[in-house]
Amino acid sequence: MVNVNTIGNRLIFAIGFMALLTVGVSGVAVYNWETLDDHIEEIVTINMPTLRSSYQLERNTAGLQAALNQISMNTDPVIHHELQQKITAKLLLINLAIKDTVSMEEYAAILNTQQGLAETLQNYTNELEKRNQQLDTLSQIENNIHWVHQDLINELPLLQQEVEWQLTRMLPNIIDTNAIIDVMTEFSLIQSITVKENELHQLAQEIILQHHNRDLSNAFYFIGYKIAEVQTMSEQLSHYPSTSTYRERLSDLIKVVAPSGPLEQQLKQNAEIYRVIIQHEAEIQQRLAKQEALIQKMVTAADDNLINLNEQTRKAIIISNLFLLGAVCLAIVLTIILSIYLVGRGIVKRLNTLSRDLHEVTKGNLDAEIQVSGKDEIGLIGQNLRQFCHQMKEMERTNALNLINNTQASIITCDLTGQVESVNSSALHLFQHKPTDSEPIVIWQLFNSTIDSRLESLFHDNSPLLENGACNLTLKHFHNQEHLYLRLDFRLFQQGNTDKVIITMTDITEQEKAARWLESIVYEKTESLTNRNRQLREEIEDRKRIEQDLRATQDELIQAAKMAVVGQTMTSLAHELNQPLSAISTHVFATKMAVKKNKLNKLPTNLEKIEGLTSRMGRIIASLRNFSKKQSADNPLSPIAVRDSVEQAMQIVEGRARVQQTQIENAIDPNLLILADDVQFEQVLVNLLVNSCDAVASNEPRHIKVHSLPPNPHTIMIAVSDTGGGFDAVMMKKLFTPFTTTKDVGLGLGLSICRSILTRFGGSISLASNLDQGAMVILELPKHENNQ
Ligand code: ADP
Repeated sequence: MVNVNTIGNRLIFAIGFMALLTVGVSGVAVYNWETLDDHIEEIVTINMPTLRSSYQLERNTAGLQAALNQISMNTDPVIHHELQQKITAKLLLINLAIKDTVSMEEYAAILNTQQGLAETLQNYTNELEKRNQQLDTLSQIENNIHWVHQDLINELPLLQQEVEWQLTRMLPNIIDTNAIIDVMTEFSLIQSITVKENELHQLAQEIILQHHNRDLSNAFYFIGYKIAEVQTMSEQLSHYPSTSTYRERLSDLIKVVAPSGPLEQQLKQNAEIYRVIIQHEAEIQQRLAKQEALIQKMVTAADDNLINLNEQTRKAIIISNLFLLGAVCLAIVLTIILSIYLVGRGIVKRLNTLSRDLHEVTKGNLDAEIQVSGKDEIGLIGQNLRQFCHQMKEMERTNALNLINNTQASIITCDLTGQVESVNSSALHLFQHKPTDSEPIVIWQLFNSTIDSRLESLFHDNSPLLENGACNLTLKHFHNQEHLYLRLDFRLFQQGNTDKVIITMTDITEQEKAARWLESIVYEKTESLTNRNRQLREEIEDRKRIEQDLRATQDELIQAAKMAVVGQTMTSLAHELNQPLSAISTHVFATKMAVKKNKLNKLPTNLEKIEGLTSRMGRIIASLRNFSKKQSADNPLSPIAVRDSVEQAMQIVEGRARVQQTQIENAIDPNLLILADDVQFEQVLVNLLVNSCDAVASNEPRHIKVHSLPPNPHTIMIAVSDTGGGFDAVMMKKLFTPFTTTKDVGLGLGLSICRSILTRFGGSISLASNLDQGAMVILELPKHENNQ
């Protein structure tokens, strides 16, 4: 039966479910984005143009309305014309805005309204133009009335003056009473007619102002009545010639304001135009209102659509958010369940157990209990591991037996008491007493009885075998009339749960015999070497004695060479000592004279000078004595300052140098130290300086310099160079050979003694030339630790 509850299947299921969840989430996200995209597209392609067109229409309609208000208020023809153009422009803009709404439902209705509106507007503006002309005419008539009225008012004072004059003329002789009454009647008539004329004028003014609201027929009927009254009075005045002008003006006024006169006709025309204009205005307002309603309808529809879209988007987002939240929660819960149950407990914990089991098995513990169980892959591995351990144990057991039986080596196994369990065929032929299944024996019974105790002791407590788990032993075993040397290697091993001992036997008879033969040869050789050694020691003693003799001879030779130098410098030394001696005798003489003349104050100076000269002589003699002292070559070496040694040596040759006018320069650093014997090193320097003095004696200039050459890491180099003729090229190779000299009085020992002294100091001497072709002798010495 196929096992479906495996880790792989569980993981595939979990991952599949997760993938499904991801696909679901992605699907929702894609659907959401698509919906949003559609909504935005709808807003951009439908709602926004609708709103934009509505705005344009609204704006231009409002502009048109404002222009209409202005044109209706305006009476100036120039401004009228400008406003008419403005209205035409606005209409044009409205038409353009309407074109943008071509895709909309309301387009036909808006277009229809607009076409009717243009026509009406044209008529309306024409009527307004006419109205303006008529208002102009009316204004002229009004002005005419006003001027005539003003003339009548102006005429009144003249008439009053006339009456006053007549009365004044009559009053002194009040004879003609009728004449006075006549004058008074005239005056009274003028008063009355003035009042009536004023009333008529006011009436005309009122009608002009209010002609839109008033019944013109009635008004002019009343004016006709008033005119009849004025005319009656005017006729009564006709008897008075002075009133002719007044009456004429009055007649002018009556002509204008009389019923069916110019004023009434003009006012009637005006009223008619106002009526038409109002009709047009009503029609225009009606159309604009209709257009407004259509725009409002469009805006409301777009608005509703936007609200609807918004609502749909909101709902879609809420639904998808809820779905995503649910999916995320589900994913988290699943992840936790997966990590705890599947990974944590189901896999990791069991893998750890499996790892421990494997660790035990790899350590070699094939008996370890394999704890992993189950029907999945890990359980299967555990089961396989159990089988593997079992097979390994089987194999080990058979391998061990095969190995023991088939190997060339001789192998015996036994238990910890020494009881033999197996003896392989290779080992069997070594023993006479062979073990059988019926008669078990202990291991020491296999060998000769002489080694019983040694073998038995290995199986006691605390024996090296039981303590360390291994040991070895070499036995001499008698078998087949000959002695065999057997090497037995004991090892503890585990068979199942019990400890056993495996003994590997190696026949080392040949090696043992060879070793014994080698031992005897070594013994013989050792003896001959001991004899030879003794002879050598005696030889060394002889050589040491000879060396001591040689050294003594060498010391003598060095001493002889020294004395030769002393001898060479003796002449100059005598001169050197003679000079202070004569100075001393001069000072002694001077001292005596001072004592004699009792000039004791000069004594200390003279005595000081004598003391200085004696100490100088003492120093010369001391250095000479020091130099000529016999010095053993065995004196220990000590650190010495090279510069001081050069100074000492210079003192010895100083006399000679002065005699032959040779300048010796000491350019050695005061801190330069070497490990040497001071007297022997001084002798080296004296030899070299004397040689240089000899070399420069016949040359010009005469200069000798002792200086250091650049050192290398381990040695220092001191050079003695001179301005002499340099070394003889032919002789140069053998100058270190004793008794080689080019001088008439030379011993030819100087350079060879220098070399042997320097060899003792661990240094060397070599010959060279300086840049002036003069000689340069280089001393190379090991650096002393304090050297800088
Ligand atoms: P000696 O001075 O008794 O001859 P040395 O061993 O001191 O013996 O010198 C050997 C020879 O080396 C000298 O005879 C001389 O020819 C040569 N020699 C040594 N020093 C110098 C030098 N500074 N200049 C030229 N030749 C020298």
